[in-house]
This record gives sequence, C-alpha cells and structure tokens, in this order.
Amino acid sequence: MRICIVGTGYVGLVSGACFADWGHHVTCVDADCDKIAILNRGELPIYEPGLAEITEKNVKAGTLSFSTDLTASAWNADAVFITVGTPPRPADGHADLSSVYAVAREIAPALSHGVVIVIKSTVPVGTCDEVERLISERRPQLDFQVASNPEFLRAGAAIRDFKKPDRIVIGGERCACERIAEIYRPLVLDRTPVVYTSRRSGELIKYASNAFLATKIAYINEVADICERVGADVQEVAHGMGLDSRIGPKFLNAGPGFGGSCFPKDTLALMKMAEDVDAPMRIVESVFTANERRKRAMVRKISAALGTPLLGKTVALLGLTFKPDTDDMREAPSISLIAGLRDMRALVRAYDPVAADQKAVPRDITCCVSPYEAAKGADVLVVVTEWEEFRNLELKRLKEVMRSPIMLDLRGLYSADSMNRIGFRYYRIGAPQLVPTARAAPRQIAPSRRLHMNGAEKHTNGSARKPKRQRRIAAAASPTTLPA
Ligand code: NAD
Repeated sequence: MRICIVGTGYVGLVSGACFADWGHHVTCVDADCDKIAILNRGELPIYEPGLAEITEKNVKAGTLSFSTDLTASAWNADAVFITVGTPPRPADGHADLSSVYAVAREIAPALSHGVVIVIKSTVPVGTCDEVERLISERRPQLDFQVASNPEFLRAGAAIRDFKKPDRIVIGGERCACERIAEIYRPLVLDRTPVVYTSRRSGELIKYASNAFLATKIAYINEVADICERVGADVQEVAHGMGLDSRIGPKFLNAGPGFGGSCFPKDTLALMKMAEDVDAPMRIVESVFTANERRKRAMVRKISAALGTPLLGKTVALLGLTFKPDTDDMREAPSISLIAGLRDMRALVRAYDPVAADQKAVPRDITCCVSPYEAAKGADVLVVVTEWEEFRNLELKRLKEVMRSPIMLDLRGLYSADSMNRIGFRYYRIGAPQLVPTARAAPRQIAPSRRLHMNGAEKHTNGSARKPKRQRRIAAAASPTTLPA
C-alpha cells in the first residue's frame, strides 16, 4: 500500500519504518526541513534502539523515503497517517490540535478518491469529526474516510512495541477499518487482537489507558512515601501486590515521578476534556497534582540523605532522560530536580549515556563523560534514570572519587546491605531508612497514639513530639539511620 505519514517524530518515524518493513511504500513528511535533511543524510534525529537498522534497510530497499513536500507525498496515497505532536496549550492545558488541523487543511487539495486519513496522534474525542469536516469543506466531492488508530508504543522500546503490540485499536467506519487492518496485516496474521470501535471510543481509549498507567505510578509512589515512614519496603509491597493478577506487576516501580512526552500531557488533556463535558475526573486530577509535587519533593530527599542543607554541595546525577533507552528529555523528572537543586544553590554534575546534547538539558550543569567523572568530588550521588549501565557500577571506584560516599537511589537499583558493606551511606526510595524531612515527622504518628491537648499534639507517653516509634522501626529495619 502507498502510505504517507505526516509528522516524522517519534511516532511517525517508527511507524513509517515499520510499515515499510512490512512491504508498504512509505513517505514520511515533516515541516521541519532540518529533520528531513538529517534523515536524507542517512542519520537519525532521535535515539531509539533498533530504529537505525530498520530505517537504513528500508531506505536502501526503496520502500521508505523522507520529504518536506506534503502535497506531493499525500497525492495518490491509499492512507495518510497524521502523527504530528499534540502538546498542551500553554494557556489552558488543553491538547493543542493546531498541527493536526493544519495538516488536514494542507492535504485536502492533494487527496485521491478512496483515501483513508488515519489519526495516530493522541487527540481528544471529536478530533476525527473535525478533520473530516475540514477536508469535506475543501473537497465536497471527495470520497474519503477518517479513522482513529491511537499509538501505544513506548519510547525506548518503540520498535518492539510497534511490531508486537498488545492490541491494535481501530476506530471508524467498516471500510476504513478494513483498509487499516490490511496495513497491519503481519500483526493480524500473528493473531494480535484488533479492537474495532467507534472513532470516539478509539480516541478515548488512548487517554483512558495513559491516565490509568499514570495513576498506577502515582499510586505506588505514594505507597513508597508511606513505606519510608512506617518501616516497610516498597519493593516488597509492590511485589506482593503485583502477583495479584487483577493488579499485575507492571508500572509498580516507585521513582521520582512520571515524565516523558505522554503521561503528563495526556493526563492534563484528559482532565481538560472531562471538565469541558462536565464529567470531572477527580482521580486523574489528583494524579497530575501528586506527580508534579513529587518531582519537586525529590530535592528534599537529597537534602535529607545528605543530612545538611544543599548550599554549596556538589550533587552528581546519574541519568537525565525520563527513562532509559531514549534521548527524550520531555518533562523528565531530572529537569525539576536540577531546577530545585539550583534554587538551593547546589552544584550539579551529571552523566547520561545519550542526553548530554539535548536542548532540554540545562546549560549550567556540568555534563560528564562517565558516572565516575560525574561522581568526582560529589557530596551525594543520585540515581535518577535506571539506565542498564547504572546497575553495574564499579562502586569502590565511585566511592574513592566522591567527597562523601552517599547514594540516593531513586530507582531502587541497589540493596542497602551491599552498599553499606562497601562503605556507602545508601538511601533507596521507598525503603525504611529514607525519611525525607524532619518537618514531616508529626504526620508519622498513628492517630490512635495521638492526644490533642490545648490544641497541641502530644504522644500517649507524654514525652516528646518526635516519632520515636517510627525511628525505632527505621533503625531496626536498616543499619543505616537517617541523618538528623
Ligand atoms: P514529535 O514531537 O516527536 O513529532 C511530531 C512531528 O510532527 C515533529 O517532527 C514536527 O516537526 C512535525 N510536525 C508538526 N506540524 C507539522 C505539519 N503541519 N506538517 C508536517 N509535520 C509537522 O511527537 P511524537 O512524540 O512523535 O508524538 C506525536 C503524537 O503521537 C502525539 O500526539 C503524541 O501524544 C502521540 N504519541 C507519542 C508517543 C511517544 O512515545 N512519543 C507514543 C504514543 C503516542
């Protein structure tokens, strides 16, 4: 089939390369001339494992090409996929659909009879209807269909996800659905479930799925906070929860908060869409707010691990991208973290295997070429992104180059026992010994042990306001106790 993909970003490029790999003739179009020039030079504008090989192979085979000429590329196509960005509108957080509608207006004059326009960008309910209206207005006689085909790939595992998805969602009229199913033929033959829906359901499935996954992450992050206060371990709790087949183990890794180009913007867009139709999504609103707070709270955890204010201290960050195996820095927790550290006048050194050249990396930090270089002279080392190479660090070497061997592990890659043996003071997110601030202490007391006298809080033993019971639990659970 002849396919035109409009928007050659993460989704467009991966989709185009994979469709070409299945034997379709694909032209990927983008308004960004630099991006297309990079691709036409045989390079890639993004880092994504496996993408270079599949792109090169299909360009050589003549089934994949890149262009800035939208009209010429859309002409004669059997299907035009719209994969442009839908970022939040700065003014109100609604999904900005201006690029989607601009593409609809621009392709209209070039479309051939029988074409299917496929909206793969994540878009609010009703966007397909509006695209259909815009094209009909310009080409009243044109025989065409608009369908929804949301994309669920994950940055860092995009090729695998695209070629082995859990399901394909196709929303639209029957003949449009059949055309799209034909494009995905190798997966259909492979018995990948195909979910046929109305266009509106198709559009909502994507938002509802992402918001649900974001909720799972925000939930386990809050469980991690409780664990730190009550002497439980979030890894054990998550394991015990995840074995329940109704819950499942995925998205139960506590961390510094979710980032990336999808979860923050999609939860926000869903909230806004829900508000518009007077069906507010209070759970999603809480998830969004809790996540923003969490990203900012990480600085307090660093200060607590260090046991002193951050002023003038050197903090080494391992990992900057929002997750491993991608160079995507969009909404990465490291960005809030660095901003917070700068506010506290800490010096930041960082190492990331691929992100150093990204525009989003703040310029006033020192980007280093290895974890050991980043750790040099550092007062505390913070694992921010769970890149594979951070699982096998030479810990003795790290300890030797640091000013003080303290590690705050925001991804739970190491164990307290082994780190303590090497001589690190080690704190892991969601583990018993990490209590973020002394000010949080009064909230640690179980209500049954509290008495309110003259408006003040007192313990049943009448002694101090400090959570002695909690400190006992924390101390018993780990040889490392929290700095005062
Ligand atoms: P992106 O920003 O990486 O790419 C979008 C591309 O569209 C850019 O290259 C931009 O130059 C191009 N573009 C914008 N307007 C254009 C126009 N008028 N004509 C031609 N090209 C134009 O975005 P992305 O991450 O690929 O996301 C695209 C959509 O897919 C979004 O709606 C996103 O929510 C959704 N999505 C993204 C992911 C992901 O992991 N990144 C996963 C699933 C779904």
